[in-house]
Amino acid sequence: MPPSQFDPRQFPRNSKHELELEFEARGHRLTMPVLLARGELDGPTLVVSAGVHGDEFEGVRTIFDVYRGLDSVSMAGDFLAVPVVNGPAFWNCSRTSPLDGGNLARVFPGRPDGSPTEVIAWHFDQRILARADFYLDLHSAGVACAMPALVGYAADDPRSRAAAFAFGAPVVWGHPTIPPGRTVSAARARGIPFLYTEARGAGRIHPEDLALYTRGVWNLLKHLEIVAGDAEAAPCRHHLFGDGNIDESLNATQPGFLVAEVTLLARVERDQLLGSLLDLRGRVLEQYHAPTSGRVVLIHECPRVTAGEPLFLVTQEAGQGSRN
Ligand SMILES: [Zn+2]
Repeated sequence: MPPSQFDPRQFPRNSKHELELEFEARGHRLTMPVLLARGELDGPTLVVSAGVHGDEFEGVRTIFDVYRGLDSVSMAGDFLAVPVVNGPAFWNCSRTSPLDGGNLARVFPGRPDGSPTEVIAWHFDQRILARADFYLDLHSAGVACAMPALVGYAADDPRSRAAAFAFGAPVVWGHPTIPPGRTVSAARARGIPFLYTEARGAGRIHPEDLALYTRGVWNLLKHLEIVAGDAEAAPCRHHLFGDGNIDESLNATQPGFLVAEVTLLARVERDQLLGSLLDLRGRVLEQYHAPTSGRVVLIHECPRVTAGEPLFLVTQEAGQGSRN
């Protein structure tokens, strides 16, 4: 159906629907899958998305599994999910779109008459995100990088923070600022509280990450009282605090072969060596040092690196010289 005709309230309560929105952008025919479970009773709408980047698959599978397990007769509120937001990137198994090179997580809220990536953002923002009382965007590190399984929240929003701890991830990361262009910055512009997740990625689905994401979405549904029951508690081992902007990572200035000297979640001191970039004769081209003390939350795991790629991101621990 055309996005302009989609309104979840048109569907009866106590029903489930697998839908597809169809639209065009600069001659490209695009589709967006939508899964809707409407509860028997009134209540909040949880919007969940995955596949904003086309090489991240944990969230796609999570949405399929949770949707299948939902029993609308016992729900108070709605589950509205898009398992693959960025279809062109998904079918290309790439972070960015093969149609226009766009990064969907940098162009929100998009434009109705823009590039294919901008048009996807616009329809998602207008037709899906606008319906949310709470928003969850499931990401992971993608094919080239690795990140620990974590849930991220807006530090200045108590609704976001409470939901992050209810989600039950081993790493919880509070952000003092949310850079523009993201799905979650579009949610913020609408006053909608949000969470997002990351996991190890690598272009495949690790069973532990799938279990964590799935339990987390169920926990969030219980936290929002869309589904009855108590969230399944899980210990938070690391409470981190800092900008989650991967664009601010230490980047390669040239191509090379990366040798990392640290592992994920390693505690590092300021100026500590994180890794070296070698040429193909094994000679050091450049080295990367921690800009701050803290924990390593991103490593470029694929040794082949091109200029401009993020290599390492270090963030602080909550309570480390700043309020959380
Ligand atoms: Zn992503």
